[in-house]
Amino acid sequence: MQAPSVGGVMLPRGNGQTVRLSRGASLTDFAEKINANPASLVAVMLNLGEMVTATQSVSDETLQLLADEMNYNVEIVSPEEEDRELLESFDIEFGENEGGEEMLVARPPVVTVMGHVDHGKTRLLDAIRKTNVIAGEAGGITQHIGAYQVSTEVNDEERRITFIDTPGHEAFTAMRARGAKSTDIAILVVAANDGVMPQTIEALNHAKAADVPIVVAVNKIDVEGADPTKVRGQLTEYGLVAEEYGGDTMFVDISAKQGLHIDDLLEAVVLTADASLDLRANAEQDAQGIAIEAHLDRGRGAVATVLVQRGTLRVGDTMVAGDAYGRVRAMLDDNGNALEEAGPATPVLVLGLTNVPGAGDNFLVVDEDRTARQIAEKRAARERNAAFAKRTRRVSLEDLDKVLKAGQVQQLNLIIKGDASGSVEALESSLLQLDVGEEVDLRVLHRGVGAVTETDIDLATGSDAIVIGFNVRADGRATQMAEREGVDVRYYSVIYQVIEEIEAALKGMLKPEYEEVELGTAEIREVFRSSKLGNIAGVLIRSGEVKRNTKARLVRDGKVIAENLNIEGLRRFKDDVTEIREGFEGGINLGSYNDIKIDDVIATYEMREKPRG
Ligand code: GDP
Repeated sequence: MQAPSVGGVMLPRGNGQTVRLSRGASLTDFAEKINANPASLVAVMLNLGEMVTATQSVSDETLQLLADEMNYNVEIVSPEEEDRELLESFDIEFGENEGGEEMLVARPPVVTVMGHVDHGKTRLLDAIRKTNVIAGEAGGITQHIGAYQVSTEVNDEERRITFIDTPGHEAFTAMRARGAKSTDIAILVVAANDGVMPQTIEALNHAKAADVPIVVAVNKIDVEGADPTKVRGQLTEYGLVAEEYGGDTMFVDISAKQGLHIDDLLEAVVLTADASLDLRANAEQDAQGIAIEAHLDRGRGAVATVLVQRGTLRVGDTMVAGDAYGRVRAMLDDNGNALEEAGPATPVLVLGLTNVPGAGDNFLVVDEDRTARQIAEKRAARERNAAFAKRTRRVSLEDLDKVLKAGQVQQLNLIIKGDASGSVEALESSLLQLDVGEEVDLRVLHRGVGAVTETDIDLATGSDAIVIGFNVRADGRATQMAEREGVDVRYYSVIYQVIEEIEAALKGMLKPEYEEVELGTAEIREVFRSSKLGNIAGVLIRSGEVKRNTKARLVRDGKVIAENLNIEGLRRFKDDVTEIREGFEGGINLGSYNDIKIDDVIATYEMREKPRG
């Protein structure tokens, strides 16, 4: 068969072979795999009506489209699969306990607190932490490291529970989006005076999607008007039926503020874990787990809180966490105590990494420094590609022209700086999920942990971006520079506030849409001829009202015979008026349009801006 050509470039053709490509691959990557010239792939895409450059990351659909066209079968490898393969190439298996059943020991459950804003998640996390410090471990300086462990007594036995200390389902979803399963059990906080709210449902759905059992904390029972029974009733509709009603979800009435029934809640968590989960891990293998939170510390360098999921992490171990690696120099628990080792379900602050891993990145201990470095470097390269693919939205060639001409695509560029990688990522992923239609594009040009710097302002200046500082400020010189360059730097400490404002900004950028609203109809009863004004219609207003200077169309026998007319003159008896209402008679002058007959209908309308939903 003759290979087709476009503009003299021979198009590659396959025989249905399978090509494996990583998500976010470019046409050049594809070309390399099939031994073709990247330019020829660009030509194929052009032929398909899309303009794509050779080195740009493209979407799964584009890769698929291209493969179909050239008769290849493409297999797109997800980042998780790819990572598994990467680790396998080093003979490392991630995510499985080594050895058989006999190697497994019980481990504490890991809990995330979720629920609607202001229902008391933060307060509850504080209350739990204060009242249930593990005996003998108090005394240090309490630190928020992103997670903590407490102990509680259940059936005369000391049981430990690990809490992820960043409340809200944003963090939970951000981690899950990266394929990390951090949480065994979710506590769903519902304020008894407020009841089930939108974010309650969202949180519940996230937990269900992740197959995580839920314990419901009915909070604020100290407040007047609290109605815990109502909360139980409401949640029944969402499939959470309280045990006392014959269901299998534990509901505990609490007051985070007064510290009421906190122990009952912890007991419910332990009982739920015992009833529905098999929480065991091999404590002896090389440690593996996930990074929960990380930031750059002026004095200590990269500081990461990791949750050990399997094995035991020790000072001196060589570890990789996401694209960071290093030797564990020191470990601290959430009370600031130095630890030598940390077993399954223990959160620890780790010092000694080369840079800051992302929240939800997996970590693992390897034998050699060199292996750690190689894994980290490969991941960093992949991250760069994937991030790029995620942030660029394609406009097809066909649309591009139209769209640019009409000035339809508006773009809001953002630079996000935050105090910790967890919050920055949660923020970014929430923002990228904002849906305000096709016409507006949100791009995160840069994100990072730390203060807003001159480099950020520089980037913002060059690309008209807005800078978001989440729990961070600009350093002195950056502030001056931002003022000088007129860069908008906004500071926030609550995620949903950022989201609300950005969403509003995006909506504001949308071009107004207009819709036609009918104002009134007038039936022509008589036609007067005026030498000065032309034909005047003597009318009876049949519906609504007819106003001067509004648009009109003329309808005869149900057919529109003239459009875009204007009510130029409007009279009642001898007086000029601005409007005539239904049921009244008057005279209408349609300006230079004179083709009017008795029984014609003049329908008037106006264009109104449609509110954006
Ligand atoms: P979050 O947005 O879910 O983290 O909510 P917060 O923990 O910040 O709590 C929101 C507000 O409710 C704060 O003013 C808390 O002090 C208050 N609050 C939380 N729990 C209780 C409670 O049990 N009783 C009362 N009266 N107020 C509470």
